[in-house]
Amino acid sequence: MDYLFTPWRYAYITGAHHPNAPKECLFCDRLKATGDEAALIVYRGKNCFIILNAYPYTNGHVMIVPHQHASELNKLSAETAAEIMHLSQRMERVLRELYHPDGVNIGMNIGKAAGAGIDQHLHMHVLPRWVADANFMSVIGETRMLPETLDVTWERISKALKS
Ligand SMILES: [Zn+2]
Repeated sequence: MDYLFTPWRYAYITGAHHPNAPKECLFCDRLKATGDEAALIVYRGKNCFIILNAYPYTNGHVMIVPHQHASELNKLSAETAAEIMHLSQRMERVLRELYHPDGVNIGMNIGKAAGAGIDQHLHMHVLPRWVADANFMSVIGETRMLPETLDVTWERISKALKS
């Protein structure tokens, strides 16, 4: 069941795989957005931003994205790499407070072969996990039934990151 251990391999974001999706990078596009709620951005940092996954594996599934359009971790400055780790710690704390998970997945897929949905612009997935994830949400075809809608998740997480 590698499905349970690498959930982000199956986690895509709005439009990324749509045949009519813009050629431009989705993350670079979101970075320029003016409305954070519509863009699903919950936090803007110095060199990175945090965005909700539009197709979350679990409620509270976020991605920490560097502003720099880079496909490899080694291309980021030490400062940006440190900010990704700092924000991962912060998100872990926020998710523990808001969702009381049994565990947390934090990880990156670098390159298509590694399972990246958007391989040109690397990002760190952070998502809460429960012992019985399979019971926590039912899967019907490709549609996941999650107990919380994205706008509620956006409200809760962006508020928690402000305090
Ligand atoms: Zn980009």
